[in-house]
Amino acid sequence: MANLGTQSRPMRVAIVGSGPSGFYAAEAVANSGLDVEVNIIEKLPVPFGLVRYGVAPDHPKLKKVTMIFHQIAEKPNVNYFGNVKVGEDVSLQELESCHDAVVFCYGAETDRQLNVPGENLPGSHTATEFVAWYNGHPDYKNATFDLSCEDVVIIGQGNVAADVCRILSKSVDELSKTDIAEHAIEALSKSKVRRIHVVGRRGAAQAKFSSRELKELEALPNCLSRAYAEEIALTTADDVELADPTNYNSVACVDAFKRMSEASDSNTDKEIEFHFLLSPTAFHGNEKLEAISFARNRLAGDAFSQAAEATDSTQEIPCGLCFRSIGYRGKPIEDAPFDERRGLVPNEKGRVICDESNPNRNLYVSGWIKRGPSGIIGTNRADSIETVETLVADLERIERNSKAKADLTLGSLLQQKRVPYVDYEHWKRIDDAELSMGKTLGKSRNKFTSVTDMLIAANSGVSQVDYDYPGQSEAY
Ligand code: FAD
Repeated sequence: MANLGTQSRPMRVAIVGSGPSGFYAAEAVANSGLDVEVNIIEKLPVPFGLVRYGVAPDHPKLKKVTMIFHQIAEKPNVNYFGNVKVGEDVSLQELESCHDAVVFCYGAETDRQLNVPGENLPGSHTATEFVAWYNGHPDYKNATFDLSCEDVVIIGQGNVAADVCRILSKSVDELSKTDIAEHAIEALSKSKVRRIHVVGRRGAAQAKFSSRELKELEALPNCLSRAYAEEIALTTADDVELADPTNYNSVACVDAFKRMSEASDSNTDKEIEFHFLLSPTAFHGNEKLEAISFARNRLAGDAFSQAAEATDSTQEIPCGLCFRSIGYRGKPIEDAPFDERRGLVPNEKGRVICDESNPNRNLYVSGWIKRGPSGIIGTNRADSIETVETLVADLERIERNSKAKADLTLGSLLQQKRVPYVDYEHWKRIDDAELSMGKTLGKSRNKFTSVTDMLIAANSGVSQVDYDYPGQSEAY
């Protein structure tokens, strides 16, 4: 029987990353019934990962999940260490020397590549850059996007593409009340963008939007959503896919595209055009992007495994700006196992599959870096619960393999290494300052966009914010 996790030998668990999977993992460990201390480690001073830097500013309700994360952070056995990058400020080995187990929850931050000539011409960006920029991520505050062109292409047909469409189409008046970065408001207020072409390599029945996001695009004021009847014609295999009762989202999407194909012209300022069965073959331009060539595809194969096959037919879309939104991938942390092909940490139900050369390590994983970039915020809760169930079942093994030194804490290690970490009280001060700056500007929040400014706010006065948030019924 394990002594670990009892009063005489509390278990110390490090969680790397403070996005949804990190907080849900912290909650599951803290609620495990064991005597535990949980340290959440975040590379930025500020917590919440993609809830802060991914979720679109015009979807504020979704960000209320941070109220739940706040309650988790306030648990007496949960600590927050912001401004600490694992692999740079502290090594994985050092983390193992002061924790019994480490749970990776560090997300999937890089992009998949198209591997098409000209992909990196000025004017061609990843959607990740644009999203992080308008959300005020410090690493992207100096990014620039040429919004002086009329035609923009978005490659990819998922919810991130829908977010980008809304930000390019909505009025600045509406956006300026949200927590969108001020630099984005300034740039968007001068935007000349008129047409947004949203391109997918497969057909209407395979588009990855959630139908709710599509309906939101259809309902945008002063913006017409279009699709073309000949591009949304269904194959026999599509009919089989759509007849599956679990595929109701695709049925609703196809219905939305049909409505768009029948919509009559109107005098809107902006248009969103959905194009299907097109794969980019080259990005053209002398000094910057001017057009993208596409091969027209047909679908081949059985229902649910139909693949896009290029035909001889081609199409070109002139554009001055492109956002590539074809998915995220994780990157490795030094000295940690990593599956390069899949871009994630290899695992079995959250237990990291370690190298044969060093098999006895207490490493676990959850969230996007465990399963790849799929699912909504709430998906990470079930995922983290699975990982922590595995961890708890491994208690005796963890005790046997632990490299934790009894007298070394993470706080003392960081102090020895002179890493200026931010604790949760510091975050409350940053939060407080952002909320009050937002109030002055008539927005829900005005985010700091530099780490230096965050650290200054963290080290100033004491938080005045009332942290008993009302309305905690938004469940994720
Ligand atoms: P993340 O949220 O990415 O958190 C990872 C954290 O780890 C980050 O804070 C990062 O800074 C930190 N980190 C990374 N490396 C290190 C390191 N070396 N050391 C320390 N810390 C590190 N879901 C919805 O339900 N609704 C939406 O509207 C929605 N919109 C989205 C919009 C976009 C643009 C994107 C990309 C995703 C969206 N999602 C949405 C999905 C949702 O955000 C994810 O499911 C969720 O954030 C994944 O959680 P995670 O904890 O695995 O990763």
